[in-house]
Amino acid sequence: MRKLVTGSRLVVASHNPGKAWEINQLIRPYGLDAISAGELDLMEPEETEPTFEGNAKLKAVAAALGSGLPALADDSGLEVDCLGGAPGIFSARWAGAKKDFGLAMNKVAEEISLRHGWTAPGPRANFISVLCLAWPDGLTAVFEGKVHGVLVWPARGGNGFGYDPMFLADGETRTFGEMEPAAKYAISHRTRAFAAFTQACLDRIDAHADVVSVVAARPFSDEAGLKAAAASISTQPELASFIANLRRDFKAQPAEWENATLERYLEALEAVMHETRFRDEPGWRTMAKALLSASRYE
Ligand code: IMP
Repeated sequence: MRKLVTGSRLVVASHNPGKAWEINQLIRPYGLDAISAGELDLMEPEETEPTFEGNAKLKAVAAALGSGLPALADDSGLEVDCLGGAPGIFSARWAGAKKDFGLAMNKVAEEISLRHGWTAPGPRANFISVLCLAWPDGLTAVFEGKVHGVLVWPARGGNGFGYDPMFLADGETRTFGEMEPAAKYAISHRTRAFAAFTQACLDRIDAHADVVSVVAARPFSDEAGLKAAAASISTQPELASFIANLRRDFKAQPAEWENATLERYLEALEAVMHETRFRDEPGWRTMAKALLSASRYE
C-alpha cells in the first residue's frame, strides 16, 4: 500500500463543513496538512454511482485530478434492514434541498411504520462509512467501517448530526444523539474506517486508539467545530445541545469572544440579524448560526 508521509498535503474532498472539520481533526495529528475541496474551489461531482464505494471513489478521484494532490473522500449513510438498506446512498438526499434531517428522520420512521411497525427492540440498522484515498496518478485505496444497532422512535437527543438521534448502537443505552461526541466516536463507523485508513496509509501502529483519542479530545469545542456543528443542525434538541456547547466555549475561552458582555452580545446578535443573509434552511440551523456569529461579530 502506498503511504502518505508526514508533511504531505492532502485534499479533503468534501464541501460539507461538518465532515471536512471531522476529517481534518483526524489527519492533522499525523502531520498531514489538510485543505478542503471547498477552499480550493474544486467542483463537487454529482454522486451518480449506485454504491458507497463508487461515490467515495468518484469524489476522491475528481479532487485528486483537480488539485494534483492526494485526496480523501468519504461516503456514508444509514442502512435499515427492513427497508432493503434504504436510505443507504440516498441518506443525505432524504433530507431534501434544505438538508433537514428532522424531515429525513420522520420519513424513515414513516417508512418503518408502513412496512414493519415500531415493535421493540426496534428495526435493525447500521451506519456505514466508506473512505477512498485517491492519488493524482489514478491509484485508489478503499476502507470501510460499520456500526450496527437498532432504530428508536421518537428520536432522542440533540448531539451529533443527521440520523444520530434515532440510532441506538448494540450494547448502548443512549442513542448517538444522546451520547457525548467522544463516546460516539469511540465506536462510530467513521472511526472504524479511519482506523483502517491510518493503519494502511500512515505510519502508526495503534491507529484505532489514536483516532478515538484525537476526536474525543476536541468535540466541537473550537470555533471551527462550532461552525461545523451549526451547519448541520436540523432539530430543536440539536439547537439546545449547540447552545450548551456555545456556553462551554465562552467559559473555556472568553478572550475569543469579541462580544463577551450580554449587552455587546445582544447588540451583535441584532446586527447579525440585520446584516447577514441566511440561506433558505431549517430555522433551528439559522438560529445556531446567528448565535455563534454574534459571539465573534465585529
Ligand atoms: P454523504 O455526505 O453522501 O456521505 O451523506 C451521508 C449522510 O448519511 C449524511 O448526510 C447523514 O445523513 C448520514 N450519516 C452519515 N454518517 C452519519 C452519522 O455519523 N450520524 C448520522 N447520520 C450520518
